[in-house]
This record gives sequence, C-alpha cells and structure tokens, in this order.
Amino acid sequence: MAKAKSNKEKVIDLLNEARASELTGILQYMSQHYELEDMDYGKLAVILKTIGIDEMRHAEAFADRILFLGGVATSTPDGKVKKGEEIEAMLETDLGLETGAIEMYNHHAQECAKLGDNVSKELFEATLAQEEGHWDQFSNVHGHIKKLGAAYLATLAGGQAEPAAGGA
Ligand code: FE
Ligand code: FE
Repeated sequence: MAKAKSNKEKVIDLLNEARASELTGILQYMSQHYELEDMDYGKLAVILKTIGIDEMRHAEAFADRILFLGGVATSTPDGKVKKGEEIEAMLETDLGLETGAIEMYNHHAQECAKLGDNVSKELFEATLAQEEGHWDQFSNVHGHIKKLGAAYLATLAGGQAEPAAGGA
C-alpha cells in the first residue's frame, strides 16, 4: 500500500506543476519571438523575448524551492507549443497561458498556506503578481490589434529584438 504523501511532498508537487507550466510558457514565447522577428515585427518580438526571460526566472525560482525541499525539479513542459499562428491568435494563446498561471498560483498559494509552508506560499504570490503584469501587457497589445488592426500592427514592425550594444 502506498504511503500517504507528507505535506512537504505535496508542496513539491504543487511547485513542479507550476514549473511545468513555466516551461511551456518559455518554449511558447521563445517560438513566437523567433516567428515575430522573422516576420519583421521586432517591437512585438522584444516583448515576447522579455516575458519569456521572466518565465525562465520563475522556472528557476520554483526549481530552487523544490531542491531546497528535497525534491527533483521536472524538465517536462505541461503543454505543446503552437506554431504559425496569426498575431491576434498568438496573443490569445498567451492570454490563455497567463490566465492559467494566475488561477493555478492563486490556488497553490492557498494550498501551501494550508500545508504550513509560508515561504512557498509567498513564492506563489510574488510570481502571481508578475503573471498579472504579463496578462496586462498581452491584453493591451491584443486590445489595440482588435480595435485598430493593421494600423496598430504597422507600429510593431521593424525595430530590433535586442537593445543595441552601447557605444558608437
Ligand atoms: Fe511565469
Ligand atoms: Fe507569465
């Protein structure tokens, strides 16, 4: 008969569930960033790249906590990367990922409190606040595209996916 999980093991599972969702986000946003750059939407590409790097930090922070608790950090994303979407559909994919993260982290923060792990609870809360920021950025761009269409898309064209190196 399987032994019941300890509270610590339950928290590790919650952290790994979150890490798996971060890994999906990282792969999705990197893929979109490359596609957008290829389509010459450099200004939107840089937003995707920046948010993708935020998700990398989240994946690392969850892994740090998992290791501290004696667990093994998952390397398996929880979803599949969508390729070749129109820009509006890309943003809908991204809003879905952020909404999922917000719901999950709200729930997991409360679970961690119930399991008596306030540090993990705080990690979920701090990450949650950043996911709300991501949702807001995606929602703004999506809203502008919906309202203004091609005129707004034109403002996202060109530009560099990376700030120019300093110096002349
Ligand atoms: Fe994240
Ligand atoms: Fe996010």
